[in-house]
Amino acid sequence: MAGLAALGAFAQAAPMVTSLGPVRAAVFPRLTGLGRPGHVALTFDDGPDPASTPRFLDALDEAGVRATFFLLGRMVQRAPALARRISDAGHEVALHGWGHRAHIALTPAQTLRDLRQGRDEVASATGRAPYWYRPPYGVATAATFSACRKLGLRPVLWSAWGRDWTATATPESVFHTVARDLRGGGTILLHDSDCTSKPESWRSTLGALPLLLEHCAEQGWKAGPLREHGIADADAEIGS
Ligand SMILES: [Zn+2]
Repeated sequence: MAGLAALGAFAQAAPMVTSLGPVRAAVFPRLTGLGRPGHVALTFDDGPDPASTPRFLDALDEAGVRATFFLLGRMVQRAPALARRISDAGHEVALHGWGHRAHIALTPAQTLRDLRQGRDEVASATGRAPYWYRPPYGVATAATFSACRKLGLRPVLWSAWGRDWTATATPESVFHTVARDLRGGGTILLHDSDCTSKPESWRSTLGALPLLLEHCAEQGWKAGPLREHGIADADAEIGS
């Protein structure tokens, strides 16, 4: 339980656990999404969004790459067929919760309800029960881990992000921001929807995608979903 207790304390002391990237990676490698060195996990949060997600599906198809999509229950409710399309295209569907509220602002019961409603919505739309869970803003509390255990979900964050939600992001800035922190075995966080970001910010993400895939190929890393990432069992790390 030491890891879980430490992370809970971490989250309470500093809600933006995400800003402590190198520390988090060293202390919680599996939670950070560190997998086998020849692989990079490609993950997208906040969809499915009819305005943008189909463009990502087309680009990934063209590149012959599969990814993991962390879906929001409230977005799936509005576009269940698109959630199904993601899954039917061979991508991995994962859970980002129902709404998009930081768990630090929720009671344990609200946290559990958010995950359960989101999980049920994703499962009903896609026919697949999600395995991975990523909390909004990367903010995890003790209640986050407790809810994951109850629902059979595996929490995972990321090791490199593109800051693609910001007003100043460009395809080049997203690419360079990811590439700066990305190593073999890393997990990339991007967004295929602007529902929690600056309007149209997904266009920078989409523009960065081919640059990132080319970079991975040059480095000899295969890009793919988390299910192929080879992350070791998390039990020892987060006290499940
Ligand atoms: Zn999000």
